[in-house]
Amino acid sequence: MAKLLDLAFGDLNSAICKKYALDMIDHSDEQFMVQALTEAQKAAQIGEIPVGCVIVKDGEIIGRGHNLRESTNDPTAHAEIVAMREASKKISNWRLEGCEVYITLEPCPMCAAALIMAGVRRIVFGAPNRELGACGTVWDFPNDPGFDNHPLVKSGVLRERCEKILVDFMKSLRQQ
Ligand SMILES: [Zn+2]
Repeated sequence: MAKLLDLAFGDLNSAICKKYALDMIDHSDEQFMVQALTEAQKAAQIGEIPVGCVIVKDGEIIGRGHNLRESTNDPTAHAEIVAMREASKKISNWRLEGCEVYITLEPCPMCAAALIMAGVRRIVFGAPNRELGACGTVWDFPNDPGFDNHPLVKSGVLRERCEKILVDFMKSLRQQ
């Protein structure tokens, strides 16, 4: 972050500029999380646990995904994996260096490891995953010295909306 601000403002390193930059970054985080929520909604509509993900490179979405485990009978078809496959195809490169990943729910160990090994720069999630969260809640893969990539993590972006979609889905299952 400090590096980014220095690049953006050079000598104009005033507190006001810094605050303005942080506000702008927060704003786009929310916009991309709304896109991840749209993906989560698509999962809910087909009876999948509603988790959605978008992958962003240079401010542009290059991959989208939602949970497809039931529809595809694929244990690895988590939103992040689906989005990573699309993003890698789009840029013809399995390395997702410089990419930012927006996920409605904190990644599980499988997805966190895959994202880290693909070289993503930043992981942003909405709701914490109390059972399987691998970006700070149960495990902390991004800060694990065993990996050679340590993406930045931001949690709690549109957290309430990301949690509500999961809670509503579970409620609807119980009513069936
Ligand atoms: Zn996962």
